[in-house]
Order: sequence, then structure tokens, then C-alpha cells
Amino acid sequence: MSVPFYDFAKLHDSDFKKQIIQRITDIVENNSFVEGQFNTSFQKKFAELTESNHCLLVGNGTDALEISLQALDIEKGSYVAISSISFFATVECVVNQGLTPVFVDVDSDTGLMCPDSLERILAKFQVKAVIPVHIYGLPSPMAQINSICQSRGIPVIEDAAQAHGGRYIDGSPIGSSNNLSCFSFYPTKNLGAFGDAGAICTNSHELADKIIKIRNHGRSPEGHILYGRNSRCDHFQAAVLDLKLEKFSMHHEQRKQVASFYYKHLEGLPLRTPPQKYLDYSSWHLFPVQCTNGDEKYALAEYLKKHDIGNALFYEKALSQEKPCTNIKGEFERANNFALQTLCLPMNPFITEDQVKEVAKVIKSFFT
Ligand SMILES: *Cc1c(COP(=O)(O)O)cnc(C)c1O
Repeated sequence: MSVPFYDFAKLHDSDFKKQIIQRITDIVENNSFVEGQFNTSFQKKFAELTESNHCLLVGNGTDALEISLQALDIEKGSYVAISSISFFATVECVVNQGLTPVFVDVDSDTGLMCPDSLERILAKFQVKAVIPVHIYGLPSPMAQINSICQSRGIPVIEDAAQAHGGRYIDGSPIGSSNNLSCFSFYPTKNLGAFGDAGAICTNSHELADKIIKIRNHGRSPEGHILYGRNSRCDHFQAAVLDLKLEKFSMHHEQRKQVASFYYKHLEGLPLRTPPQKYLDYSSWHLFPVQCTNGDEKYALAEYLKKHDIGNALFYEKALSQEKPCTNIKGEFERANNFALQTLCLPMNPFITEDQVKEVAKVIKSFFT
């Protein structure tokens, strides 16, 4: 039995295709190609889902991070502390805004920003913003991170590119905090467009107003009032996202169910799963497991592939090990190990318990 990593055929079924073709036809007939009615509709619904005052669509998740940094008006060259396990965009956004990244180490169970490491970094560097990453959809320890940053007046940008539908440990939805939360709607994310799109959620009316200007060339009714960029979201993409929201909560529950199957059937195997307390909180974008070392991980990845089980090495390296990042300061020892040992098992809403059993069976035969 093969177990696919993603399953777009089931996500984009014939019913969905029919509806999206209708929406695209309407857009073409109305010549409403950017920032149309579906942008407005989606922003309103996604703000409701995340319990935030504002959801602002932008061009992609990387732009969401960059625009957030720009909206905070941080003096060029300042340090921005970022989690050392993430997709490359988290470091890129800092550098491309003329700021200096500094790495914070991660918790070795989860790959999430470690509050103790953050405290040490803040004691050593003049940090002007902090970016935790809800990696794999697991919520970062925001109660601790927020309290550390609030007491020093440091703004927080949450990289929530993988965390749609997830919850903080206090139960409130990711995106509802008083931070800027950045989402990506890249096609493989939990909520995916037919191309690139992203969004920023915020409770601040003032920052929302500024973000609206930045994403559209600094335009305001009085003319251009700042140097922005073009990061508007296409109406086509908004139409896809708006339609996909209809089944989003159901798909989220299905992902959670798949995670619970993994917990049940991987039990007793020599693999480290994310702590089970995250079951009701993660968005379950991915299901990461840790091997005891890199050799074992690569051998297991090969073995799974041979048995038709989808898997992926997210992230093969910590950000600190990427070529352009080798001069960046900070803490990343645990991150380097975490990246070396981690492999992601198939995760999408359509995986059945039988398929999870198959994955567990193959893993068991690998270890015996
Ligand atoms: C996908 C992703 C991004 C970037 O989003 P894009 O829409 O691809 O620009 C940033 N951070 C993380 C953690 C991501 O997974």
C-alpha cells in the first residue's frame, strides 16, 4: 500500500474544481483581477477563524514577514532574534530588510524557540524584534516568549506559515495574539492557494492601516505617503482560498485524527514523536519524528521510499548551517542536531488509519 505525502487529487476533487472554475470565469468576465470581492470576503473569514481584528492578504508568506518588519519601523542594522529551525524565508526577511539576524536555539523535543536561549540572547544583543516559528504547526511557547519580550518592550512577529488552524497552549487560535502573525498560503500549506499568497493577522488598527499602505506602494487617499511595494493578492488566489475555507475546519480535524493514529501505532518504536500534549493544539502541518542520529535518519528515509511511503527531510539543515548564514551569531547547537535527526512522515487530511498502520509496519520492519 502506498502512502502519499500530499494528496492534491483528493483536495481538489471534481466538486471543488467545478466551483473554482465558476469563480474564475466570473473574475474574468468582471475584469476584477486584484483585490476583489473574494479578497474582502476571505480577509473577514480568516480574521474570524484566527480571532484577530484584521487579516490582510499579501503576495506570499515571505512578504508577510518582511512587511511586518517594515511596519515596525526598526532602525536599520538592528538585531532581530529568530528561531534557528525554520524555512529559509525566516532569515531572509530579516536580511532583506537591512536588519541583522541572531539565532535563538530550539527545544530539542519540538524544534520550537527555547525561552531560556531567548533570554540569554536578549541579555547579550540589543534585539529590536523577535520571530518565533510555529514549526510543523506546533505552537511556540508564546506565554513565556510574550512575557520575556513585553517586559523589555520588544515586538514579536510570529511565523505562522505552517500553523493555520492551530492553537496556543492556552487554547486561543494562532493569530489571535497581540503580535503580528504571518501566514503563507503556498499550495502545500494547510490552506493553500493555486500559487503564491500570504497574510498578516493583527489586533492593532494602526499597524493594519500601515500594512495596507505598504502592500500597495504606500498609497493612501492623499497619495503615496511611504515607500511600500507591490504585494497585493491576486483575486484568483483569494477566490481559491475563500472557497477552500469551507472545508478547512473539517480538514483540520482530519489532520488531528491522522496525528492521533500516529501516536497510537508508532508507540514502542524507537522514534521521538512531538510531545503528545500538542495533539489538540498543533495545526498538524507535518508529522515530524526524530531518529537517534543522522545515519539512521537517512537510512530510514531511503527505506520508506523503497516501500512507497512518502517522507521528507524538513529541514535537512538548521538555518545556522545554511551557506549564507554561517557568520550569523547566536545559539544553535540543539538546532543543528534536531535538523540532522528529523524526518517528516506523510500528513494530509486524507490518510486513513490503515495507511498509518502501514507506515508503522514499515518502520517496525526497518528497526528489526
Ligand atoms: C512557507 C514558509 C514561509 C514562506 O512562505 P511563502 O509563502 O513560501 O513565501 C515562511 N516561513 C515558514 C516557516 C514557511 O513554512
